[in-house]
Amino acid sequence: MLQKTKRPDSPVSIIGAGIAGAWQALLFAQAGHAVTLHERGDEAMTDATSHWAGGMLAPYCEAEVAEPIISRLGLRSLEVWRRELPDTPFNGSLVVAHPRERNDFERFARMTEDHRRLDAAGLAELEPSLEGRFRDALFFPAEGHVEPRRVLPKLHERIRAAGGTIKFCSDVTANDLDGIVIDCRGLGARDEQPELRGVKGEMILIETAEVQLARPVRLMHPRWPLYVIPREDNLFMLGATSIETEDTGVSVRSALELLGAAYTVHPAFGEARIVEFGSGLRPAFPDNLPRIGIHGRKFTVNGLYRHGFLIAPALAELTLAYVERGQIDNEVMQCL
Ligand SMILES: Cc1cc2nc3c(=O)[nH]c(=O)nc-3n(C[C@H](O)[C@H](O)[C@H](O)COP(=O)(O)OP(=O)(O)OC[C@H]3O[C@@H](n4cnc5c(N)ncnc54)[C@H](O)[C@@H]3O)c2cc1C
Repeated sequence: MLQKTKRPDSPVSIIGAGIAGAWQALLFAQAGHAVTLHERGDEAMTDATSHWAGGMLAPYCEAEVAEPIISRLGLRSLEVWRRELPDTPFNGSLVVAHPRERNDFERFARMTEDHRRLDAAGLAELEPSLEGRFRDALFFPAEGHVEPRRVLPKLHERIRAAGGTIKFCSDVTANDLDGIVIDCRGLGARDEQPELRGVKGEMILIETAEVQLARPVRLMHPRWPLYVIPREDNLFMLGATSIETEDTGVSVRSALELLGAAYTVHPAFGEARIVEFGSGLRPAFPDNLPRIGIHGRKFTVNGLYRHGFLIAPALAELTLAYVERGQIDNEVMQCL
C-alpha cells in the first residue's frame, strides 16, 4: 500500500489502541494524516477488551442474533481485512449440535445465510479431527478469524509503517489534545458516555496436540453460542459467556460449561492442558449497537459490544469518509 504525503495541517489523535482505535489509526495514517495513537496500557494490551476476544470475523453466523447493521458493517470489514492483512485466515466457520440441541440448530440454519449443510463425511473431510463426532454441520465458507493477541501488534506495526506514531502508557483525554480527536477508549470512555456498560465474556485457553482444527467451531448451547477457536502452537480458545455484570472473575459454572462444551466437541480436549482463564468486558450501549458520535472535530467510536473485530475496519472507513468528504452514515453516526 502506497503511503500518501502527510498533511501537517491535519493532526489526528486517537485514544485507545484496542481494535477500534487501531483500525482508525491505520486508515487515517494511510490516508496521509499525521496520526498519533495514545494507549493508556503497555504493549501487552491486557487492559483492552480486545486482548480477551475470540477474533471471529463471522457476519453470517452473527446474523442469527445481531441487527442487520452488524451484517452490513461486518461484510464491508471482511473486504478491508482481506485488503490490509491478506494473510488473515478465511477458512470459514462450522456450526455443530448434539441431538438434544437439534431444534436450535435448525433454527440457526433458518436464521442465517451463505452456509452449506455438510453430512458427517463432508465434515470429516473438512476437519478430520471431527470424524464421527457429529451427524451434520453448517459450513459458512466466507467467514474468517484472527488471533487478537497477534493481530493487534500486527496492526500497530502497520500503523507505524504508514507513518503513524504510537504512544503506550499515555493516559489522555480529548481535552488534552489538539486537532481531530477520535476517542476509542471502550469502557474507559464512561466518564463522557455514562450509558456505556460492560458485558462480561469469559474465555479459557487450552493446549493439546491431539486435536487439529482449521477454523472456529460453534456448538449450539441453550444459553450461549459456545465456540472453540484454533490458535497457533496447539492452543484453542474456548468462549464465550455473555453475562450482564462487570465483575471480571471467571465462575466455576462458566468454566464447567466452557470446558464441558469443548469436551463434547472432542473428548481429547479432556486431556488438554489449561493455559489460562480470563474475561473481558464488552463495551455496549443500551441497544447493543455501535455508534460514531460527532462533536465538531471530536469523534467517539464505541459500543462495539461483541463485534469489535468484525466491524472495526468499516467504522474506521466511515469516520475517514466523514472527515475527508463530509459523508454521513445515518445508521451509525450521531451529530451531537
Ligand atoms: C470473551 C470475548 C470474546 C469476544 N469475541 C469476539 C469475536 O469473536 N469477534 C468480535 O468481533 N468481537 C469479539 N469480542 C468483542 C470485542 O472484543 C470488543 O467488541 C472489542 O474488543 C472492543 O474494542 P475497543 O477497541 O472498543 O475497546 P478495547 O479493546 O477495550 O480498547 C480500548 C482501549 O482504550 C484504552 N484506554 C482507555 N482509556 C484511555 C485513556 N484515557 N487514554 C489512553 N488509552 C485509554 C484501554 O487501555 C484499551 O486498550 C469478544 C469479547 C470478549 C470479551
